Amino acid sequence: MLIAGNWKMFKGPAETREFFAAFEPPDGVDVVLCPPFVSLAAALESGRRIYAQNVHWEPQGAYTGEVAAEMLRELGVDGAIVGHSERRQYFDETDETVARRARTALDAGLGVIACVGETLEQRESGDMELVLKIQVEALAFAVGERPGFAIAYEPVWAIGTGRTATPEQAAEAHAFVKSIVDVPVLYGGSVKPDSAEDLLTQGDVDGALVGGASLDPDSFASICRIAATIPS
Ligand code: PEP
Repeated sequence: MLIAGNWKMFKGPAETREFFAAFEPPDGVDVVLCPPFVSLAAALESGRRIYAQNVHWEPQGAYTGEVAAEMLRELGVDGAIVGHSERRQYFDETDETVARRARTALDAGLGVIACVGETLEQRESGDMELVLKIQVEALAFAVGERPGFAIAYEPVWAIGTGRTATPEQAAEAHAFVKSIVDVPVLYGGSVKPDSAEDLLTQGDVDGALVGGASLDPDSFASICRIAATIPS
């Protein structure tokens, strides 16, 4: 079971060190933290597995504001998230750029968590599977089934809203993703200590990508403890 914490644009280096001083996850679960770029070095001091929140598809070049996979490797970073819905929504990330980012990162030896998920409008109009199929097939075409590659199913309507998918909705979407590409699938969308068990015990749920609840070391450790009790 993989439990990843996405800090988004929260926590500079000082707050990152404070978090790790207080964070005591159990054994028996893979834990990854994804701080902002400027806090990666501080997070790595903890000795824990650290992913960036994005990575570029070219090895280097005139791409102001971007960071290359080899640069992350040199720093000691273990992987990267790609295609988070906030990147898709606010920064015009497309299925093509997400797939290219994923392929370059994996080729460089980084782990990848690639995010997919439908908006509320898409779910309500009955297009959930169509949207997931397009997003996941782009990744499957570029990357296939490779070690270190995981997908996070994150329904956009559940991110930061306090509204989680029901365990049945999550299980159904995960099974659909796995019917296209058989890789670990994490659930993301308002996972909290009190909703984690019901979600993580579903078949085809291989872990969680946690936003808000990963900012607090105690609540994130609680989710990790729940995950550690669930056989994979
Ligand atoms: C996320 O950022 O990927 C996420 C799922 O956020 P939250 O847990 O806050 O909904």
